[in-house]
Amino acid sequence: MFEWSAEQLMVRDAVRAFVEKEVKPHVAELEHGDLLPYGIMRKLYTTFGMDQLARDRFARQLEARRRELAGAGAHQTPTDGGAPARQGDGGAAAMTLIPIIELCHYCPGIVTAMGVSIGLAAGTVLKRGTPAQMERWGLELATMEKIGAWAITEPGSGSDALGGMLASARRDGDGYLLNGSKTFITNGPYADTIVFYAKLDDGSDTPVRDRKVLTFVLDAGTPGLVQSPPFAKMGLHSSPTGELFLSDVRVGRDHLLGETEDEAGGGGRESAKDNFVQERAGVAAMALGVIEACLALSVDYARERTLWGQPIGDRQLVQLKLAKMEVARLNVANLVFRHIELSAAGKQLTLAEASAMKLYAAQTASEVAMEAVQLFGGNGYMSEFRVEQLARDAKVFQIYAGTDEIQVTHIAKALLGT
Ligand SMILES: Cc1cc2nc3c(=O)[nH]c(=O)nc-3n(C[C@H](O)[C@H](O)[C@H](O)COP(=O)(O)OP(=O)(O)OC[C@H]3O[C@@H](n4cnc5c(N)ncnc54)[C@H](O)[C@@H]3O)c2cc1C
Repeated sequence: MFEWSAEQLMVRDAVRAFVEKEVKPHVAELEHGDLLPYGIMRKLYTTFGMDQLARDRFARQLEARRRELAGAGAHQTPTDGGAPARQGDGGAAAMTLIPIIELCHYCPGIVTAMGVSIGLAAGTVLKRGTPAQMERWGLELATMEKIGAWAITEPGSGSDALGGMLASARRDGDGYLLNGSKTFITNGPYADTIVFYAKLDDGSDTPVRDRKVLTFVLDAGTPGLVQSPPFAKMGLHSSPTGELFLSDVRVGRDHLLGETEDEAGGGGRESAKDNFVQERAGVAAMALGVIEACLALSVDYARERTLWGQPIGDRQLVQLKLAKMEVARLNVANLVFRHIELSAAGKQLTLAEASAMKLYAAQTASEVAMEAVQLFGGNGYMSEFRVEQLARDAKVFQIYAGTDEIQVTHIAKALLGT
């Protein structure tokens, strides 16, 4: 794949029209926290029938999960729709990434809020939950009737999320008592459903680092659970980020994902890692959206802004900026196309490849957006001209879903075989 197909271009144009009509006029309200992103996210879903597609996919996933539990044993991970794990995705990756790219022309925060709710929260419940848990929480998350959060990061852990985790789950009768705090949680302030990771405290002297990681599903309003107001932050203002505090939160075993303490069967470390490749590919698509927007805005500005009687686009130093942005766009687009093509062929990027893609795309989007600010001069520093917002938003690509430095460690590990 080296360019979008005719069908993909039709989808892109339809999503682009939606974004121009439903997102662009609201960017200022979203930026100032006067409007939450959830209404727009839901409208996107219903407008394009994504909620019905999610319902259909859910029915297949549930059926497959039931068949697996009835047949091969209780601890297998269901595949999407019961298809063999390596069957081609029929172009689904492209249809997921096109809206991401288009939304990021204006509002990467909406994509973050949506990606966490659907990709991480719903995705984890649907991949690792029992049929009853899938029905109780998975469907409403997948259709976006409910908003989800996915909580692993803690004030003392971050990049060392699993090892450094201190949140605890202590057996208590037929359930668990949960304690701990999480930070930087996307949708944390408003989530209806929270996927929460904690270490099993079974009273043994196993060092905390080595304890089992369990995954729980929590409902907003559970006694002992506090969802903080949103943080003020550098960018991504349309994506609310907050803290969670758990103090003796009592949940039944039915809240333990997979209803098993077996890490391979339920949540645990593997459930957290399940998401790495898709998440990193998603961030690369977000980066492409920002790069495309910055390039288009910069080309227009280079034509329009006149100094010494000439458009600044006549200056070679300005042309160099535009040319480098175009090189960046081509490179990141090709990485995204490769991911789409692999998915269509039933293959997947390795973790190291996904890390390399994310590292390059994130750094490139930040560089392009900052160069766009430079090209716009004083106007670039003003919110009205949009590149300022995109530059602040793009910076987070280098931090979440694994920092640049963590991507480097994953790439190097694969290269060195360590
Ligand atoms: C807007 C936003 C939304 C987020 N949403 C979520 C969410 O929904 N759920 C969730 O669980 N988390 C979320 N996060 C958290 C995010 O995943 C973490 O911020 C990220 O993993 C980095 O952790 P940290 O911030 O604690 O930084 P730290 O881990 O403290 O890192 C500090 C610095 O040390 C560097 N460093 C760390 N380890 C190494 C190493 N081994 N080698 C070299 N350098 C290293 C880092 O790269 C970084 O530069 C979000 C973060 C942000 C900013």
